[in-house]
Amino acid sequence: MFSLEKMINRCRPGHGASCALCCGSHNYAAAPEEIESIFIDRGLDRTISIHGHPEDCSGKKLFDDAIQCPNVGMSREDPGIICCLVYDCTARENAISSFFNGTCKNFFCAAWDSLTDEEVLFAAELMSDWYYYSLFINDIESLKEEFSTYGSPQHVPVNRLAEIKEKLVQRLIDEDGK
Ligand code: SF4
Ligand code: SF4
Repeated sequence: MFSLEKMINRCRPGHGASCALCCGSHNYAAAPEEIESIFIDRGLDRTISIHGHPEDCSGKKLFDDAIQCPNVGMSREDPGIICCLVYDCTARENAISSFFNGTCKNFFCAAWDSLTDEEVLFAAELMSDWYYYSLFINDIESLKEEFSTYGSPQHVPVNRLAEIKEKLVQRLIDEDGK
């Protein structure tokens, strides 16, 4: 079992990277830039902190049977970083509170116990974003392979980075689109 205290936070590791893949951040039939603008708008909307139940959705999904939680957003204080807007909201409806406490708070993806901190930081520094970083840390085998080949983000050639990104998007489509 991993120890949270000693670990780099996989969801927010620094270097401009962040993840909310398990919340459905990538489950939109839209380009990454369009998804990002939805996240920015949600974070700006201070009058509605919670946008719906996590099992609701706000846009056309890429995969109908997967989650697209309407509470993923970017807060004004942390531009570029995706987060759960429910965390900062104390006035939660019962149904949302129950899902949040029963499911969200207890979920840890494989990146928590299958990756080392060094591998997570390699991915964070290499991608420095929410879109590709999320996909990379959830493709454990590929990340381990690239880390063992290059060791440092600075050693990854530009064309190799483009190939990695392309492969990650393809995997997203192939594996979740079954
Ligand atoms: S997929 Fe893993 S790293 Fe990403 S938000 Fe969920 S728990 Fe955090
Ligand atoms: S409520 Fe927050 S943690 Fe739960 S699925 Fe939505 S964004 Fe993720």
